[in-house]
Amino acid sequence: MTTLAILTAAGSGSRLGRDLPKALVDLEGFPLVLHAARRLAASGVVDSLVVTAPDGLVGVMTDLLAGDPHIRIPVQVTDGGPTRQASVAAGLALARPGDDVVLVHDAARPLVPSDLVQRVVGAVRSGHGAVVPGLPVTDTVKQVRPDGDAELVTGTPDRSMLRAVQTPQGFAHDLLVRAHRTGAGRAVAEHLAATDDAGLVEALGEPVHMVAGDAAAFKITTERDLWLASLVLQETNA
Ligand code: C5P
Repeated sequence: MTTLAILTAAGSGSRLGRDLPKALVDLEGFPLVLHAARRLAASGVVDSLVVTAPDGLVGVMTDLLAGDPHIRIPVQVTDGGPTRQASVAAGLALARPGDDVVLVHDAARPLVPSDLVQRVVGAVRSGHGAVVPGLPVTDTVKQVRPDGDAELVTGTPDRSMLRAVQTPQGFAHDLLVRAHRTGAGRAVAEHLAATDDAGLVEALGEPVHMVAGDAAAFKITTERDLWLASLVLQETNA
């Protein structure tokens, strides 16, 4: 019984405005993907890693990760797909017999704490087939639709019942395989790929449970996020 972590790192990260794919952008001396991989490996609950690489960068990523002295678990690097969903499916295809739990984590969340990884794996091992970490939302959230040159507000969901979802998300291997198989068909039919794996499980009608997330696992999307992550690291290394 082993836990595989799929680390999705094949995105372009165009919102960061760099020439480099986001996973290779530097954060205090190391690329984002290396921070994330080290943290997954250091959690003590991940037995092997599969990393999805952007086009043409499997070699670069392999050199980076396989040669890292802090990562003492097996690492495989594979080509990602055109969407995040396709990248996760490519990673999932490399699961080995015995990988009964699969985590999916975004390289864009480089500062994921060990105890969050442990919490998610623990909840899956305790019998939940699909587990996501989430945090209460602090902003009021509005639903909108396009309306001329602006947007029309169509609703205000009850904030106390909303959660912002993070990664790693954890799954029983067989459930995730089934969710991706069904989701792949839907994505082709609807030209729409899922932005998270739990959504595919929900579409199957299977339960998804939530555990407490952690603000430290925030996602790097903009230059400001990168700056914030640098400050956090400087503070914790001081
Ligand atoms: O674009 P977004 O920030 O939502 O991507 C989330 C994660 O999925 C990132 O770590 C990115 O590298 C990864 N991804 C991927 N394959 C894609 C698109 C995104 O592995 N085709």
